[in-house]
Order: sequence, then C-alpha cells, then structure tokens
Amino acid sequence: MRASQFHLFTLKEAPSDAEVVSQKLMLRAGMIRKVAAGIYSYMPMGLRSIRKVETIVREEMDRAGAMELIMPMVQPAELWDETGRWDKMGDELLRFKDRHERDFALQPTSEEVVTDIARQELKSYRQLPKNFYQIQTKFRDERRPRFGVMRGREFTMKDAYSFDRSEEAAGRSYDIMFAAYKRIFDRLGLEYRAVAADTGAIGGDRSHEFQVIADTGEDAIVYCPDSDYAANIELAEAVSLIARRAEPAKALEKTPTPGKATCEDVAELLGVPLATTVKSLVLATDDLDDKGNPAGVTVWLLLVRGDHALNEVKAGKLPGLKSGFRFATEAEILEHFGCKPGYLGPIGLKKPVKVIADRTVAHMADFICGANDADFHFTGVNWGRDLPEPDLVADLRNVIEGDPSPDGKGVLAIQRGIEVGHVFYLGTKYSKAMNATFLDEDGKPKHFEMGCYGIGVTRILGAAIEQNHDARGIIWPRAIAPFEVVICPVGWGKSQAVRDEAQTLYDALIAAGVDAVLDDRDERPGVMFADWELIGVPHRVTIGDRGLKEGLVEYQGRRDAEATKLAVGDIAAHVL
Ligand code: ATP
Ligand code: MG
Ligand code: MG
Ligand code: MG
Repeated sequence: MRASQFHLFTLKEAPSDAEVVSQKLMLRAGMIRKVAAGIYSYMPMGLRSIRKVETIVREEMDRAGAMELIMPMVQPAELWDETGRWDKMGDELLRFKDRHERDFALQPTSEEVVTDIARQELKSYRQLPKNFYQIQTKFRDERRPRFGVMRGREFTMKDAYSFDRSEEAAGRSYDIMFAAYKRIFDRLGLEYRAVAADTGAIGGDRSHEFQVIADTGEDAIVYCPDSDYAANIELAEAVSLIARRAEPAKALEKTPTPGKATCEDVAELLGVPLATTVKSLVLATDDLDDKGNPAGVTVWLLLVRGDHALNEVKAGKLPGLKSGFRFATEAEILEHFGCKPGYLGPIGLKKPVKVIADRTVAHMADFICGANDADFHFTGVNWGRDLPEPDLVADLRNVIEGDPSPDGKGVLAIQRGIEVGHVFYLGTKYSKAMNATFLDEDGKPKHFEMGCYGIGVTRILGAAIEQNHDARGIIWPRAIAPFEVVICPVGWGKSQAVRDEAQTLYDALIAAGVDAVLDDRDERPGVMFADWELIGVPHRVTIGDRGLKEGLVEYQGRRDAEATKLAVGDIAAHVL
C-alpha cells in the first residue's frame, strides 16, 4: 500500500467526548468515526485491523471444526417469544415493527435463530456434534454505550453455537472451544486470563470469560498469583463469602436449582450453619406481584463490609427495619449504604428491594423461601460490571484481596480486565424452550445439549490498545496492526536513490508476505513519524540520502526508544 493512495487521516486532539485512551487513539488515528452514541463507521485504517482479528478468529474456529454461516441481523419476534426472551430481554433488545405491524428485533445474539435451524436440519444423532458460527453485526441498546468500540451499541461479534447428543459430548465441545479461544488470544498477541464465570441458573462450572488484562478494564478479575485460579468478580465474590464463613468451603455449584430451594439450600450455599447471624443482607428483586410483594428473588447481595450497614440500621436510620425487614427504595439503599447509583449491580435496583439485618440464616432463608413459595432462582452475587469507579475496586479489594484462594494454594489478588470472549455451556435451556430435538440411537427424540461462544471482534481492538499504548500513540501487537512495517523515505520528492531503495525494500517485503506501507507523501520525517507512531505500526524503516551513502538505513521498533542504523541488507531480518 502506498500512503498517498490510502485514506490517512490523523488528528492532533481527540474529540472532547472521548473518555478512554483506546477510544481517543482510535479516533485520532482515523480508525473509527462516530455516527451516533455507540455507533461507529469503521474507517479503512480500522477495518484493516478488524479484518485481521476476524481472520485469526475464523481460522481457529474452522480448525476447531466449527462451520461458518450468517444469520440475519433482523429477527422475527415469534422466535424470541418461544424462549420468552422477547419479554425478558429488557431494553437492550432493540425492537421495531415492519410495515405490516409485525414485530422484529436486531440480533444481540442468535440462540433462537440457530436453535430453529438445528431443529429443522439436525434430525439424527448421526449428524452430531455440530458447531455453527458467524462473524456478524450485533446490536445491543446498551444503557451506557461508551469507550468507543469497547461498549458499542452496534458491534461485531463472533458467535458460535454447539449442538450435542449428551452433556458429556457438550463438555467436549466446550473444551474444544476453550482451547480454540486460547489459540486465538495467543495469536492476537494479548495478555489475557481465562476466568471462571457465574453460570447462573444453568449451574455447573462451564462458563469462562476471556479477559484482556488492562487497568482501565470495566471488569474485575480475582486470581491467585501462586496457582491458576482465576474467576470474575461475581463468582469469586460468592466463593470468597462462602470460604470466609465456613470450612470446608462449599463450591458455587451448590446453587439450588430454580424452584427447589429450601432453607437448607440457602445455608449450604452460604456455607454457614442455619443458626449463624447474618450481619446485613440486601435482597433485591425485579419481579413483583400486583401487591408489590416479591414474586421471585432474582438478585441477592450480601454486604460484608464490616458492621457499617448494620450500624446504620441499628441507629434507626432506615425506619421499619426493627421489625425485621421492609421494602426500601433504591435511593434509600444507596444513601444508607453509601453507594453510588448503580453500585448494587446491573439491575440498577430500579424496583424496590428488601432489607433484612441481624437475623439468623434460618430466619433469612425462611424469609426468602417462604416469601416465594420456594419458587425462585438464585443467581450469584453481582457487583455490576460497567462501573469503573475507583472506590468500587477499593471495596472489592477489602472483601477479597488476601482471602485464601479456593484451591488452597495461596491468597487472592485483584486485577482489572476487559471481557473479550465468553464460552458458556447452555444445557437444554434453549432446545427445551423451542422443542428442538433429534432422534437418538434408541429412536427416541432428545433435546440438544447446547453451548454458546462469543468473541467481541471490535472490542478486541479497544482492549489491545488499552493494554498497549504510550504517550505517542497505539502500539499494535503485530498480528492485528493495520500495517506491519512502514517505510519512511526522507526526501521522496528529491532523491531518486531514496525512491529506488524504498521501492526495492517495499517490493521485497510485499513479496515476503509482509503487510508493508510505503509513505510516499513526501512529508517531513517528523510528520511521518508522528502519524505512524500514533497509528501504532510495529516496525519503521527510515531511508535517507545521508545513510544510503554508507549503505545504511534506520530501523526503529515501535517500543524502541531510538533508531538503530542497519545495513540495507539486514533490514529483512529485523522486520520479518
Ligand atoms: P459485558 O459484560 O461487557 O456487557 P456481555 O457479557 O454482555 O459483555 P456476551 O453476551 O458474553 O457479552 O457477548 C460475547 C462478547 O461480545 C463479550 O465477551 C464481548 O467481548 C462482546 N460484547 C458484548 N457487549 C458488547 C458491546 N456492547 N460492545 C462491544 N462488544 C461487546
Ligand atoms: Mg452486556
Ligand atoms: Mg459480561
Ligand atoms: Mg459475557
């Protein structure tokens, strides 16, 4: 590529609404252009990197035996009704009507459509296992789109879905995807961790997030430096609570199955005897009956930060609590527990919550179960992930840092991360809801065992930059740099010798399969260097008349403090 023919457009300053470094640098480097909140054009420079990410993802998915297809962006409400997600999804699902007043949504993910394909086309166990994937535009009407491509509303995701005969076979599919993800993120050249994540109502231990390590990440990762234990904060928090309260520590798989919870389940989940006094507990529900009573507890939060909350309660600052518990508004909760809005989790506690304090687990469990006719589902403790406020991290540090690691091999530490991938065992959740079956060997219909596997293709660009940048700009891992090598001829317009040497080197690099760009704009070195350092090209070769007289050119790696003089013939070895 010749720079003069390419669309090169850099900015000295980022637009004032850009918040994080990756967003600023992508805008300044001309990689993306904002069209609306969370909606971007991927400019030619940005698209080069996106395509490279896609290629790596595609190669590894194909290698792992998955098959590419493309499902529609626009999906009919009928399919989403079958799983109940048309109603359950909330505002992230962008819904609209066509000219015939029929309901549609833009795909935020595609379980419904792919399960519909499976129930029509996978008839026999002989056709299994199968894994279908797409690299496609997704739309989620995020509450707070921000940070450029990291939390867009429209973004590109690779989503794969596996179909298996049995739970064991689904486990194998999961392991294959897990291994493929490791290869993908290794090849992308990113520092990352695969962390155990909450499986919610599905249970089991088969959910992992792939987190790129970056101080600016929205997620918190809990890990043990002395072992390979790593979990996302929601899961680690729950496990840590259990560990600090009881020996031996109970694992989170003990989460009661929906509809079957008992007092004993609750106590066991917490890992405490039924008679233990709970210092303070906030229950939040987003499911209320007509009288405003909780119809199901979908989120529960334990406050274990000392007695602060309890003291507040004792001081009578939350009237009504003496009698045990009552409804409190979000504002009350936030005020009394000194939290910032949204602190208590992604549901945002828009609906009333119940507060109980200084009660035994038996009482509390009784309350939970009794209030709901033992019919609810637990999910793990969730601290809310799109909240980078520093004091949130500080609080989490108090709760978890230094706690024993659940594997007993050391103590826990916290770092920040950006979720770039997620693998999830779904079981028969969708196949049952949509009655998607195949005929098994015994001739009987059976529901598919499913898994889903996402990668945030466009988010990866932001994550890579958050992890790799300096004051001058982006430092791309080579695998996803828009160009791998830039040749900067000094005096392009004046010197035939410089032009010839630059062109020869360029041709040689292209012939060797290197993605090189030749800066033939006839700009001053300072201008060229500033542009390519901002854009983050990993290797730069500068060719000028003075050096050429001695047969030398200058090489500078993007992380190098200064340039090195090299013989013309030695360049290839440096940049290949
Ligand atoms: P988050 O917790 O950040 O909201 P998620 O858990 O909702 O992400 P998944 O449903 O697991 O996301 O989707 C798979 C992948 O898609 C994520 O791991 C992430 O890399 C990417 N992704 C999700 N939401 C967005 C978004 N708004 N913008 C860009 N990428 C996204
Ligand atoms: Mg999300
Ligand atoms: Mg997530
Ligand atoms: Mg996820």
